[in-house]
Amino acid sequence: MYPDLNGKTAVVTGASVGLGHGIARRFLQEGMSVVVNFHSDKHRGEAQKLADEFNAPGETAHVVLVQADISQEDGAPKLREAALEHFGGIDVWVNNAGIESRHPTHELPLDVWEKTLAVNLTGVFLGSKAALEHFVEQDRKGCIINLSSVHERIPWPTFAHYAASKGGVKLFSETIALEYAHRGIRVNCIAPGAIETPINAEKFEDPEARAQTERMIPMHRIGTVEQVAAAAAWLASDESSYVTGTSLFVDGGMALYPSFERGDG
Ligand code: NAD
Repeated sequence: MYPDLNGKTAVVTGASVGLGHGIARRFLQEGMSVVVNFHSDKHRGEAQKLADEFNAPGETAHVVLVQADISQEDGAPKLREAALEHFGGIDVWVNNAGIESRHPTHELPLDVWEKTLAVNLTGVFLGSKAALEHFVEQDRKGCIINLSSVHERIPWPTFAHYAASKGGVKLFSETIALEYAHRGIRVNCIAPGAIETPINAEKFEDPEARAQTERMIPMHRIGTVEQVAAAAAWLASDESSYVTGTSLFVDGGMALYPSFERGDG
């Protein structure tokens, strides 16, 4: 636990399920207040579970749910306004929402390319912009955490659009880390490997596909949401106060060129 997080506020995009949900939950357990963004009505119920768990009747709410599409220009400002209205400010902004799909690149439809870039990269830009405006305006030493992926570094055939978006998130994050470091604003990425969430649930239901992924991880196991949420809590806390412009890989070693494990090559 990180005592300095107690009483702080965060915005987490795509927080109805998966990593965003886990990060929001961890922040709430740390005593933070959180704007929980969800996208579709389908996921409202899952987002509501956080409110049910952490908002006590008759007491000040710690969870505010906001439906917004973070790929649209009005999405992030909606989240910021909710944070200002209910919590009076923002200390930590997590751009988590993301999508992926498999397509051989010669068959990749333009609309899938555009949608993936819109959510995974433009969404990170719009979220970061909304947070930076607030941090600059209030002269706050805020913190931005962007969910990239091991595929900010590792090429991923048939997921070229996804890898392009995550490579973009990495360099975008490094650039704004440099641009705003003198104000005490920190910007970092979390680069997860294979973590069990709805994004890959179907794939990991197949024991052969699961074993195949595990073979590509030097630690031979798929990661958990809680392990990623722990990295987010550390990056949000003052314990990482000298860390900016970096990608924290939470991947069981997946990005370490596992095929060289036995010293071959
Ligand atoms: P997930 O599919 O379980 O959850 C993604 C969330 O994003 C959902 O809540 C979804 O509703 C939301 N979302 C999608 N489009 C949105 C939009 N336009 N506006 C607002 N919200 C939107 O995925 P996850 O596994 O939790 O992944 C979270 C992030 O971590 C993503 O950026 C993903 O690329 C990245 N990541 C995940 C893994 C993994 O193994 N799970 C690995 C590397 C990177």
